[in-house]
Amino acid sequence: MSKKIAIIGGGIIGLYIGWKLSQKGDRVVLFEKKTETEADFKCCSGLVSERINNFIPLDDTFIENEIKSCKINFPKKQIELIFNPKHSALDREKVIRELIRLNKEAGTEIKFGYEIKEIPVGFDKLIFCDGANSLIRKSNNKKQFFRLGAQLVINEKNSNNFVETTYINSGFCWRIPRGDTIEYGIVSKPDILVSEFDSFLKSFNKSKSLGIYHSAVIPQPLSFNSLFFSEDKNVFLCGDALGLVKPWSGGGIIWNLTAADILLKNIDDSSKYKKELKRKFSWQILKGRISNSLVCFIGRRCPFLLPSKIIYDNDFPSIIKTLFRLIKKVKSANV
Ligand SMILES: Cc1cc2nc3c(=O)[nH]c(=O)nc-3n(C[C@H](O)[C@H](O)[C@H](O)COP(=O)(O)OP(=O)(O)OC[C@H]3O[C@@H](n4cnc5c(N)ncnc54)[C@H](O)[C@@H]3O)c2cc1C
Repeated sequence: MSKKIAIIGGGIIGLYIGWKLSQKGDRVVLFEKKTETEADFKCCSGLVSERINNFIPLDDTFIENEIKSCKINFPKKQIELIFNPKHSALDREKVIRELIRLNKEAGTEIKFGYEIKEIPVGFDKLIFCDGANSLIRKSNNKKQFFRLGAQLVINEKNSNNFVETTYINSGFCWRIPRGDTIEYGIVSKPDILVSEFDSFLKSFNKSKSLGIYHSAVIPQPLSFNSLFFSEDKNVFLCGDALGLVKPWSGGGIIWNLTAADILLKNIDDSSKYKKELKRKFSWQILKGRISNSLVCFIGRRCPFLLPSKIIYDNDFPSIIKTLFRLIKKVKSANV
């Protein structure tokens, strides 16, 4: 039977869920606090694997630059992660516009410029996709962990097919060639982000005054238990509101589209939504945290143990395969 569903937040995840539910025949009202002209902006690099096509039909016109690999710079070594599946730097604003179009076509009622301040009534289900500072998380006082992300886009042509990443004490910095522009970014602790970002930019002879600078908070999942679920069986959280991002990069798009599909399948049973998410992500979060710390530690202390190139699934990496490659490397170094 068709349900009346409210979605709070029209970022990529809210719009994806709204589109799918409207297509199925539910009556969907989506509330977005920004106006329609502002809606396309979010501080996000839009670097995603081609798995995005399993969710949203995007042709090449949505891609700013194809990214084959990520070069990680340690003080005495560079390792190259060859992305498998391939990655692209998407024109994220265009993706949001496309999702708005798909929603309108499917019949979603989108209320732009409408900030939800209290839990809406009169709906069969409520889905909170209102980002890292979700209203429902805040009102519940559950302790949350965040990092801060910032990006600076400079008008400079560069179509290299690799991203560069540098680990810093409290996070990491990146440089993404986007064709007509280059993006510099950082994920770090809020109190030291500005000074760390300045030093990273200086290493490329750049400064913040050269381009447009934006920042936003990123949830930091410590374990599956740090994600937030409502006790009301008709209230769901998804996206950054749930707190689900890749612990090693803060990337949330593919993981949350995967979570959104799990939600769509289990919208009549919130306990199954939680159970299935747990099955899919609890080990992913844990191993993401472990492998990230391990790679940072080895990269700084014994970089010779790391291979120069490694084929890497940046969404759902296998720790076994990575360890196996490391052991092979150590063995060959000892021969
Ligand atoms: C600097 C940076 C770089 C990133 N780079 C990548 C990347 O390369 N790849 C990747 O996969 N991920 C990346 N991420 C993470 C990614 O952006 C997020 O995981 C993703 O955007 C989450 O989507 P969302 O729809 O859950 O939330 P959001 O995109 O935050 O959308 C939430 C929406 O809800 C609206 N809203 C909030 N409160 C209310 C309210 N009370 N009423 C109505 N509307 C409300 C907001 O206006 C917003 O439009 C990056 C994040 C940052 C900060």
